[in-house]
Amino acid sequence: MENRLEYLKAWQRANPEKVRGYKRTYLERHPEQVEKNRIRSRIRMVEYYRKMREERPEEYGRFKESNRKRGRETKDKYYSSHREERISGALRWQKENPDKRKAHVRLRYAELRGKTERPKGCSRCGVIGRVDAHHEDYGKPIDVVWLCRICHKAVHADLPPLPSLP
Ligand SMILES: [Zn+2]
Ligand SMILES: [Zn+2]
Repeated sequence: MENRLEYLKAWQRANPEKVRGYKRTYLERHPEQVEKNRIRSRIRMVEYYRKMREERPEEYGRFKESNRKRGRETKDKYYSSHREERISGALRWQKENPDKRKAHVRLRYAELRGKTERPKGCSRCGVIGRVDAHHEDYGKPIDVVWLCRICHKAVHADLPPLPSLP
């Protein structure tokens, strides 16, 4: 057993381009796995920065400031160069998902009329900030769970919740 493992490792070292090829084929055949891994790494990142915020608040503050600035710049650039694409993409999504679209519109109306309130933070992990409405059932547009972007993705990928904030 040990020998076989050694042999396999040696083979992998000797054939890096084949290893890369196998990996690529695997990932192409399992797009849902790719998405899960992406979300998992986002979750790890969030955990890392939450820890930093608690343990090294000054470093976190500096990181946040530079990150915010960079984010704004990329966003501005992206928005101005992809305007058309973004609009047509949104219209296509609306056409392909009429029930979801309807639920979102109803929810928006309910919010405007004060029938429901968007909370300030995620109901799963507690982070304060922008939240998404997650529908368990699109037939009940106002019956939503409010989640941060990462918890929302984790819910859809069936991943465990983020550790909640203290
Ligand atoms: Zn969350
Ligand atoms: Zn959702």
